[in-house]
Amino acid sequence: MPFKPSLLSAVVLAAASTVSTCPAQTIFPLTRADILAGSRFDFKVEFDSVVDPAQIKVLVNGLDYTMTLGKPAEFIASEDGKEVSSLLLRDVSIDKPGEYVVTATDGKTRQSVTWTVYDTPAKKAAKNVILFVGDGFSIGHRTAMRLLSKGIEGGKFTSKLAIDDMPYMALLTTQGTDSIITDSANAAHAYTTGHKSCVNALGVYCSRAANTLDHPKVETLTSLAKRHGLAVGAVTNSEIEDATPAAMVAHTRRRSNYNDIVDMFYNSNIDVIMGGGSPNFLPMSTPGSKRKDDVNYIERFKQANYRLATTKTEMQDAANDSKTTKLLGLYNTGNVDGALDLKFLKKGSVSKFPDQPDVPETMNAALKILSRNKNGFVLMVESARIDKYSHSLDGERAIYDAIMLDNAVKQARQWAKEHGDNTLILVTADHSHAVSVVGTVDDDKPGTDMRNKVGTYNEAGFPNYPAPNAEGYPDKVDVSRRLRLVFGSYPDHYDTFAPHMDGEFVPAIRNAEGVMVANEKYKDQAGAVLRVGNLPNQGPGAANSGVHTADDVVLTAVGPGAAQVHGQMENTDVFRVIAQALALAPRANPVAASKIQKK
Ligand SMILES: [Zn+2]
Repeated sequence: MPFKPSLLSAVVLAAASTVSTCPAQTIFPLTRADILAGSRFDFKVEFDSVVDPAQIKVLVNGLDYTMTLGKPAEFIASEDGKEVSSLLLRDVSIDKPGEYVVTATDGKTRQSVTWTVYDTPAKKAAKNVILFVGDGFSIGHRTAMRLLSKGIEGGKFTSKLAIDDMPYMALLTTQGTDSIITDSANAAHAYTTGHKSCVNALGVYCSRAANTLDHPKVETLTSLAKRHGLAVGAVTNSEIEDATPAAMVAHTRRRSNYNDIVDMFYNSNIDVIMGGGSPNFLPMSTPGSKRKDDVNYIERFKQANYRLATTKTEMQDAANDSKTTKLLGLYNTGNVDGALDLKFLKKGSVSKFPDQPDVPETMNAALKILSRNKNGFVLMVESARIDKYSHSLDGERAIYDAIMLDNAVKQARQWAKEHGDNTLILVTADHSHAVSVVGTVDDDKPGTDMRNKVGTYNEAGFPNYPAPNAEGYPDKVDVSRRLRLVFGSYPDHYDTFAPHMDGEFVPAIRNAEGVMVANEKYKDQAGAVLRVGNLPNQGPGAANSGVHTADDVVLTAVGPGAAQVHGQMENTDVFRVIAQALALAPRANPVAASKIQKK
């Protein structure tokens, strides 16, 4: 991002006429960071050469930085053995709200950044916060799920989705510090830290550090909530180490560091975690383990008083036991199956894991356990496979998982109503996919060319799915007149104009020459049409699936503190809304300071 000095930093720069203003340093946190007063962060200045420490001068609002940050930084003469020096100061905080201009010079060049430190009210408005994330949940999914699960009469929907029936709504922008396109890591990181970061990063700014765990950290929502005596949970139907739940606790430049992330969950003292991904908890001597050591994290969690659940039955037994205050739930070796497979088609891994909970069930178990903490709680609930099924261009599976998200929200709202009406409920996505409903497909139209069975405008009419069941799902997805869902980004694939009844769609595979090609498995399906992809098909960046888009996502909110949600907001503002509602700045509720990460 080009360096844009604010008015105040421009004044500082103008006064420093003897040194070049070319930005030969990078200062972390990056410019325009919004920092919650009292939240912990690492301060780092990277110089682009080996510098003389005697020539280094770092000022915060014109005074030596130690006046604001409290202690001197470590000077690293040669970072990672390279010809570059750095200053590093871990685990600092700023308690006083205001604008902070930080300038750093090595005597030859100078860089400047501006941070805004913000406060929260002294008294919290909400006792609890539930943050729902539909991973990759886009406007197209929202419209499609409404068309499937709500009736239309006279051109109007006859009832509302729970996610729509909320008093406050905003559009969130999702861009990061390195790119216009975000992934689930830096997107969730924005919600759980209030800082922007780059693709694949969790709980850190992306510096030049060689080690993925050495990048400048920022404090997570879990750490802050724990400092205020709240219970914390993260439940999902992805692997629990996956980016969205991991953002609740992790500090790593690489979201793929699953084994480190398991350790970070353990050290965070988070109260409830549930999802798939058991192999990274098991010692390498156990068949199927994905660990590189012989640490048994399941045993470690149990020794730290966590109940373990590996099935829905065990989960419900644990949640119903009034003594349970901590729970580790691992229901699959990979991702938990999505709603269409779990409830209707029994494909995916359902035969191998027949007793997996769905997202509303894990949420209800988490609510029972977390609400035993009288100070309140923060819970993240993710419907993760809306994203995964959109990557694989499996529209129907994505829509059923969007309906599952709505069910969870509906039940959370009911829970909140029955438990004091003091819970802030936020529902959003982390990023979008290029998915849209363009009409219907009608098998009864004449001919064999499936393209000519697509109805657009008045020809689309209405689909003929059966009336939805109590959870909002039509119990038949392969109806004769169904939604025509299209994706705008895709690899080479065979478009079958039909739901994939025998398991999740696998659009493209790599051939012997390393080129991504359409999966021949679908070639002979009636009416299948070859679509030539519009994404890279060769090299390391070759795409076997659709990709995320830069489109805004919708945030809806209800409950105390929800009025902060309106207009266009940055994704980082979601953290701020939560911090405001829970009065997370330290003066409101001082608890002994704790480290970002327990060692
Ligand atoms: Zn994704």
